[in-house]
Amino acid sequence: MKFFTLYRFNSQTKTADEIFAKDISGNSGLEEGLYAITDAAQTTMWLAVGSKKALLMDTGLGFGNIYQYVRLLTDKPLTVWITHGHVDHAMGSGTFPADVEVRMNQLDHDIYKQHGRLDLRQGYLKSMLAARASAGMTSVGKDEDAGKEEDLFAKALWPDPLPTEDMLPLQEGDTLDLGGEIAEVCPGAGHTRGCLTFLMRKGRELLSGDACNTNVFLWDDYSLSVENYKASMQRLEKATQGRYDTTLLCHGTINDAIIPNTAMIPGAIYLCDKIIKGQDRHLKVYPMGRTAYSAKRPIPAVDDIGDHSTCNILYNPHRLHAADESAEWNNEP
Ligand SMILES: [Zn+2]
Ligand SMILES: [Zn+2]
Repeated sequence: MKFFTLYRFNSQTKTADEIFAKDISGNSGLEEGLYAITDAAQTTMWLAVGSKKALLMDTGLGFGNIYQYVRLLTDKPLTVWITHGHVDHAMGSGTFPADVEVRMNQLDHDIYKQHGRLDLRQGYLKSMLAARASAGMTSVGKDEDAGKEEDLFAKALWPDPLPTEDMLPLQEGDTLDLGGEIAEVCPGAGHTRGCLTFLMRKGRELLSGDACNTNVFLWDDYSLSVENYKASMQRLEKATQGRYDTTLLCHGTINDAIIPNTAMIPGAIYLCDKIIKGQDRHLKVYPMGRTAYSAKRPIPAVDDIGDHSTCNILYNPHRLHAADESAEWNNEP
């Protein structure tokens, strides 16, 4: 299928190598292991293939048909887990046939419905393509017959998301035995209220996704307060302590999405304390046309204010404490 790029995650070297779906299509499918699929908006979905089953983690923007693409890669029984209900992660949910379970935390149904609007999904791709063009990366994926930009917005390329009534729940503690690998759902709330993280027990990888990354968006109305986010990250740290070596993300280039250590979550907890005490950098920034404050210098994300990690948090200064979580803030630019 067009517009998707596949990488093989190498757990020894903690890097990813690009491979081509067409080399796999028609064979018996992907070997057991962990793979990354990057979509046109450069969001990464992760695919774990076991001896018995496959698990797709996230579904992207719903641009093109992610189900057909995964079926080029593996014919194993498939389950879909979605990290959270945002536009760039959940909207390929409508491409799966009824025998594929699609699971997401019900706490994210509201934000999922808001983000499922076609104009919002297409606007997201437009903004990401514009950002890539200004960075000198004009091509969309690797497909030589990828259309001109106007063709990208033909309705047929944008299947509707799955109605929430047809989605199954997903919550902390859920597990799935893939054969040779067990996936486990771990805490992750903060970025959204229903955000989750996924642990690969045998591979010792934690997909922290947007829950904890180099640019945690905590400024949105649907995010938790800094205080409650900190509590959530403490629960995640406790649940995963000593159980993983690699932290996997969903944004940036593929190798930006692989962090070969476990510093991100303790880094986030440390930054939350700094923010609450007013000891972070507190720099005004404008994510997605809104206003927020950044705990560190945002670019490059190597500013170390004692956290010893590449984590950064963008937050709403009126929502530091749990009691202020519903505070209205006119954070227009
Ligand atoms: Zn998100
Ligand atoms: Zn995201």
